[in-house]
Amino acid sequence: MPRIRDDDIAAVRERARIEDIVSQYVTLRPAGGGSLKGLCPFHDEKSPSFNVRPQVNLFHCFGCGEGGDVISFLQKHEQLSFTEAVERLADKVGLQLRYEETKPGTAGPRQNREQRSRLIDAHRIAAEFYSDLLTSSPEAMTGRQFLSERGFDREAAEKFGVGYAPKGGEVLRKHLRQKGFSDDELISAGLVAQGRNSPYDRFRGRLVWPIHDLFGDVVGFGARRLYDDDRVEAKYLNTPETSIYKKSHLLYGVTYAKRDIARSSQAVVVEGYTDVMACHLAGVTTAVATCGTAFGDDHARILRRLLRDQDEYRGRVIFTFDGDEAGQKAALRAFEGDQRFVGQTYVAIEPHGLDPCELRIRSGDASVRELIARHRPLFEFAIRTMVDAYDLDHPEGRSQALNRAIPLISRIRDRSLRDQYAVRLSGWVGPPEGHSETWERDVVGRVRAAAGAPDRSPRRRPEPAPAAQQALGVPNHGTVDPQTLGLEREVLRVAVQRPALAGPGFDAIEPEAFLSPVFRAVREAIAKAGGCATQGGGAAWMEALLAAAGDDVTRHVLSELAVETIPADDAGVPRYVESVVLRLTEVWVSRRLVSLKARLQRTDPSAETEVYNRLFGELMTLEAHRRDLRERQA
Ligand SMILES: [Zn+2]
Repeated sequence: MPRIRDDDIAAVRERARIEDIVSQYVTLRPAGGGSLKGLCPFHDEKSPSFNVRPQVNLFHCFGCGEGGDVISFLQKHEQLSFTEAVERLADKVGLQLRYEETKPGTAGPRQNREQRSRLIDAHRIAAEFYSDLLTSSPEAMTGRQFLSERGFDREAAEKFGVGYAPKGGEVLRKHLRQKGFSDDELISAGLVAQGRNSPYDRFRGRLVWPIHDLFGDVVGFGARRLYDDDRVEAKYLNTPETSIYKKSHLLYGVTYAKRDIARSSQAVVVEGYTDVMACHLAGVTTAVATCGTAFGDDHARILRRLLRDQDEYRGRVIFTFDGDEAGQKAALRAFEGDQRFVGQTYVAIEPHGLDPCELRIRSGDASVRELIARHRPLFEFAIRTMVDAYDLDHPEGRSQALNRAIPLISRIRDRSLRDQYAVRLSGWVGPPEGHSETWERDVVGRVRAAAGAPDRSPRRRPEPAPAAQQALGVPNHGTVDPQTLGLEREVLRVAVQRPALAGPGFDAIEPEAFLSPVFRAVREAIAKAGGCATQGGGAAWMEALLAAAGDDVTRHVLSELAVETIPADDAGVPRYVESVVLRLTEVWVSRRLVSLKARLQRTDPSAETEVYNRLFGELMTLEAHRRDLRERQA
């Protein structure tokens, strides 16, 4: 198996900044002390416990315990082997990797990497090819017309990389074959399909939109039918599932939208490629669309991670549904599947059933912005649409509306939201004759009954136990009191993060000074890695520490310590480091004094004069030491 050279791995670690790589997937905000925080991509959470520490190029999640460096982040996030992760990072930072010599004919991760990187290359070349054809080829006239009828000029087409896939059966295939790609590669890229006789271009005579992953690479295309004689009936064709194109994880437009989604805490989900374009050009720069599939939980997870704002999830996801099915689609979204974030979900409905692209053509950019601005809560829209379908002027219509709406509202899992909508339903439908006094209560009661007994309403699912605890067992701190534990932690944190400042003062503290067995193990790892005094810190120091750690618990605690915030501003850090080191030293000296005094008391000076004198001498030295420590802390 080909091995990447160690110095190249080190260079990748150095050049691929963890904050840059993580930011491709997670919106990070400053969390003080140079740290960054975001919603963990490895477990579901509402408030961020995922920490990134650029100084040491490490991440750590306090919720689930995942942690590591930039390579392991990518490995875990993208399910890659170590080698694959290094290779992708190398591509990203433009580093040419060198491999150790190996026997020929061995296959392994390198092949996968080459495959991925080949598929990405093929897509990049295909996207350029299509895009060039759109502007230069006479055949693409129909495509250009299609775009201009929808209000997209050449500049817009270029901004979104729109292209034209020619009618001929193997124009792209030939072009890519000339560039050195094999048919097998093109088939596994999804660009070419295997025909009965020979491979042929998947997209023929269609307008194509390149689809990017979160990383910014083109991984597939969406293609629109242009000609009546197109033998493929489907209006839209997409790249089939491949090793790089997973439709449940892709959002068209995310590469243009993700920065503004994070900035504005708002994401707009539209239904088509042209709607994404129309929104962006109209100034709604947070628009995305799914690619040939319904919006699912995986898409929601991606958006939530991009949306996260401060400590509370405040982001809004606004769906635009067009046409007659809007109500149905809204109901599906509201009442099926994962309801946890439905409270932050809104809908923007164009009253005449126009989609954003049509609206922009008809009424201009401002009307698209207004459409999005007029969003309403999803539940409200879904219930109202259903109720309004009945004739509420007549008792029969009212009772039918109630019978439909009550079971629907009973499915809202958030109890207080459910009651609120029950009250609103009673208002929307209105009471029957002579029934007005208890009306509201009656409707709420019926909704509650439909939901099951009111006091057995489903509670929020408990957060899963942190994986770290499941996997490692709770770190064993013995019976040490919290205050001492806290101080030991503070001291180790500065030793891990600021070894040069902790310096000889820290190195003078023996492992026995740490009462927690876990922390003592960390102290020993620090000693084994050479101690603080000579260390510059940073990623190399962290690597040495992790290598010196004897077990997973110690490594886990080390990675926690590496990302925790030091409670001092830059100017205050040296003083802080000195003070915690002095304090622990003093605590440790005091503890030794107590036991020394006890031993002195047990020693008979006349019988064991020599021992007594030695202990007494030690006692004097220690007391002087403690006085000195106290003076330095004053
Ligand atoms: Zn986590």
